[in-house]
Amino acid sequence: MAGGMRGGRKLKAVIPGGSSAPVLPGDVMMGLTMDYDAIAKAGSMLGSGAVIVMDDTRCMVKSLLRLSYFYFEESCGQCTPCREGTGWLWRVVDRIEHRKGRQEDLDLLNSVAENIQGRTICALGDAAALPVKSFVKHFRSEFQHHIDHKQCVVQEYV
Ligand code: SF4
Repeated sequence: MAGGMRGGRKLKAVIPGGSSAPVLPGDVMMGLTMDYDAIAKAGSMLGSGAVIVMDDTRCMVKSLLRLSYFYFEESCGQCTPCREGTGWLWRVVDRIEHRKGRQEDLDLLNSVAENIQGRTICALGDAAALPVKSFVKHFRSEFQHHIDHKQCVVQEYV
C-alpha cells in the first residue's frame, strides 16, 4: 500500500484514525481490513481517518510523549480530570523518556488514563487517555526498557 515502507523499513505501529485512536502493532494491522468493524474489533477506531504509520526507527515512548504534550496543551481546563490528568500523563511519559522513569510509572499511567476516560465534559479527555493505554498495552516492553536501562531500545538496532 502507498508504495510500502520507506527505505524498506519494518512496519512497527499504526494509529489508524488520528492521534486519539488507540495504536495497533504493525503485525496486527497487517492482518486487518481497513474498515470500521475490523479496526474496532482489534481495539482501535478509524476516527478522523488520519492514518499515522510508524516504522522501526520510531521510539514509542517519544511518540507518546509528543501526543501527550499535545493533549496537555489542548486542554481548556474546564474539568478537573482533563485539566489535571493530561498534565500528569505528559509529565510521567516525559520522565520515562528522559531516563527518570520509575517502575510504578506504567501502572500510574494506566491509572491516570482510567480516571480521565469517561469523566470529562467533552471528548478531549478520552482522546488523551486512549493513546496512553494502548501504547503501554502494546509496547510495554519498550517502556520497561527505558525504565530499566535508562535508554531507548530503538538505538540498539537502528
Ligand atoms: S475534557 Fe474538554 S471541556 Fe474538559 S477540560 Fe478537557 S478540553 Fe476542556
